[in-house]
Amino acid sequence: MTRPFRMADLSWTDYRDRLAEEDPVVLVPVGAIEQHGPHLPLATDCLIPEAVCGACASRGGRLLAPSITYGYKSLPRCGGGQHFCGTTSVDAATLINQVKDMVREFARHGVSKLAFVVGHMENTWFVNEACDLALREARMLGLKAPRIMTVGYWEFLGEDTIRAAFGDTFPDWSLEHAGIMETSVMLHLHPSLVTMDRLRPHPPAKLPLWDMWPYDERLVPADGVLATAIGASAEKGRLFYDEYVATLSGALDTAFAEPAD
Ligand code: ZN
Ligand code: MN
Repeated sequence: MTRPFRMADLSWTDYRDRLAEEDPVVLVPVGAIEQHGPHLPLATDCLIPEAVCGACASRGGRLLAPSITYGYKSLPRCGGGQHFCGTTSVDAATLINQVKDMVREFARHGVSKLAFVVGHMENTWFVNEACDLALREARMLGLKAPRIMTVGYWEFLGEDTIRAAFGDTFPDWSLEHAGIMETSVMLHLHPSLVTMDRLRPHPPAKLPLWDMWPYDERLVPADGVLATAIGASAEKGRLFYDEYVATLSGALDTAFAEPAD
């Protein structure tokens, strides 16, 4: 029987004892509720990091905390923008405050190693800002702050895997929204939530190198898919997923290795 690895499934006494006895890394996925084309669910940016973090937790004696499900706004150049129905987002200050409050709460209960694993690119800088503010606050109050890792799970694919899966057509991670990678991983993890026959071929989005406010919705493909997902498969998804789990596990070990005295 595998040991429970979901924080939310533990009683408060089991959680307290686990923290005291093992000082585990606590993983928090930080996702979004955001359109991912007509073929993927709105929770895609939560479901993928939750699965990757869950595997890293169950295999590595770590704990998986409940996710932050609503993320910062979708930007046209990496998520399609806010004009899609269902893209349900929070302001940066809201996300920053939520993450900052959670760091304080985890620290209060004795978590010393915390990892925010981001599933939605737009969250990245605000999660980092929250960690910086949380540490500053802890220093001012004279409290012991945890060490915190922040990372985007998509960073963990090696060049060989990218080449094997995309050939020479890898767009770059910002355009890989609802594309081959996310669709393949979802076909591997949650095939019943993917509707491949809704995909229609179209060229990748041609977006400018700058942002404009207000932005021109017509520059974003109407189906919300920034680079094609045609060619996605569960086999590719398994390859990506296994590599994410293995490399994130290794990165967690490296990041939280006891600092040399
Ligand atoms: Zn996504
Ligand atoms: Mn996203």
